[in-house]
Amino acid sequence: ATVAPRRPVVLYPSPGMGHLVSMIELGKILGARGLDVTIVVTDPPYNTGATGPFLAGVTAANPSISFHRLPKVGRLEPVATKHHEALAFEVIRVSNLPLREFLVGANPAVLIVDFFCCIALSMARELGVPSYFFFTSGAEVFAFFLHLPLVHVPGIPPFPATHAVLPLMECEDAAYHGFLKISAELCSTQGVIINTFRWLEQCAVEAVAAGRCTPPGLPTPPLYCIGPLIKTEEVTGSGAEECLAWLDTHPNASVVFLSFGSIGRFSAEQIREVASGLEASGQQFLWVVRAPPSDDPVKKFKKPPGPDLDALLPEEFLARTKGETDRVTKGRGLVVKSWAPQRDVLAHPSEGGFATHYGWNSVLEAVMEGVPMLAWPLYAEQRLNRVFLEKELQLAVTIEGYDNDKELVGAEEVAAKVRWLLDSDGGRVLRARTLEAMRRARDALREGGESEATLAGLLDNWRRASSSS
Ligand code: UDP
Repeated sequence: ATVAPRRPVVLYPSPGMGHLVSMIELGKILGARGLDVTIVVTDPPYNTGATGPFLAGVTAANPSISFHRLPKVGRLEPVATKHHEALAFEVIRVSNLPLREFLVGANPAVLIVDFFCCIALSMARELGVPSYFFFTSGAEVFAFFLHLPLVHVPGIPPFPATHAVLPLMECEDAAYHGFLKISAELCSTQGVIINTFRWLEQCAVEAVAAGRCTPPGLPTPPLYCIGPLIKTEEVTGSGAEECLAWLDTHPNASVVFLSFGSIGRFSAEQIREVASGLEASGQQFLWVVRAPPSDDPVKKFKKPPGPDLDALLPEEFLARTKGETDRVTKGRGLVVKSWAPQRDVLAHPSEGGFATHYGWNSVLEAVMEGVPMLAWPLYAEQRLNRVFLEKELQLAVTIEGYDNDKELVGAEEVAAKVRWLLDSDGGRVLRARTLEAMRRARDALREGGESEATLAGLLDNWRRASSSS
């Protein structure tokens, strides 16, 4: 008898870096466990400069995974938006037809789609392909989206409206409408996979799983917490050697790392405040600096130019902190341009604290390495992540200055919070709590651990589907 060809599991991440990394890790696990995996890749609508090299590295290092590139999207229709999310929705909308052609040919056993790719779900239904939803942020934020059409969200603590997912604050914006449509689609899948682990977000996980967040009349899809899946490969050529060699020269837990996601950028004025704060803190730092955002709407979502550090940083800052002119502060700081190998930096023993924008991958990478966080939310769902990680789990201290509609965080606050994080009793308590979270995260991923077992169960289902014709 002829053996029917195996049907692939198709993963459809959205093209942003923060969405690619965990979906690719999922793909690697499925591939390692014998499934045929194809990852569908679309053009990133906002260019960080990192996605291309990252994908090139991943493709070369993982020959067992197939990558299917959808045709490049030409010029997008103008979208009324201030938010990069609207462009993500638009690229995925335009890519839906070529995706359909690919799916018809590939005959997948299962389709797993990212948040921004929800538009593919109705097409999957039409083609009879079972689909799962993959959520690259946490269960709290998932509960929020699920419950969006309603008012009170079970499973998450009360929070000020200003802390909601940013584009939801502006109902005129194209991104707002994209988000609203998703809530309705979430319930139509075979299951929802979340890059989290139960211990971290117990209340939200239980509320979602029990259907308490589902709008009336809709089914509650099964919930699978399979995380933390964090990136295992860095962007090629992202200066790893320099950063790690520099960290090697510092004592354990002594350096604060400042990095604000794949697209976080600060004004020139804010960069100067951070620089002064870091100097005044007396602590050692590794800081990723990007060029300030452009006011030109056309350039806003384009790849930023490399930063002109001499123009951006206070006079002699680099010389002083690098130690070229001042023997007291010798080697105190390293400034890297635009991008650092974040996961490797966080895993280095010298890492003592992490000033982060609170993107979910960054949070999980810090938790997996037990590095306490100083939160400075900037965009997307990061303020909501803060509500829960700071107020509920007490796993972070927050920069307050950005809040209350203030545009500028002062150098004094930066200095005080960095000092607190690296050198105070409160900071040491935070570190101990973060290390506990790290142990729980690693337990969840161990063979037989809760997340690992959940993923193994899913895999069995998909393997069966994959060998049926
Ligand atoms: N990242 C990195 N180096 C940088 C900035 C970001 O390696 O200089 C990586 C980071 O490790 C994480 C991802 O980019 O894996 C950012 O994802 P996250 O969800 O934290 O934030 P987003 O970019 O989606 O806002």
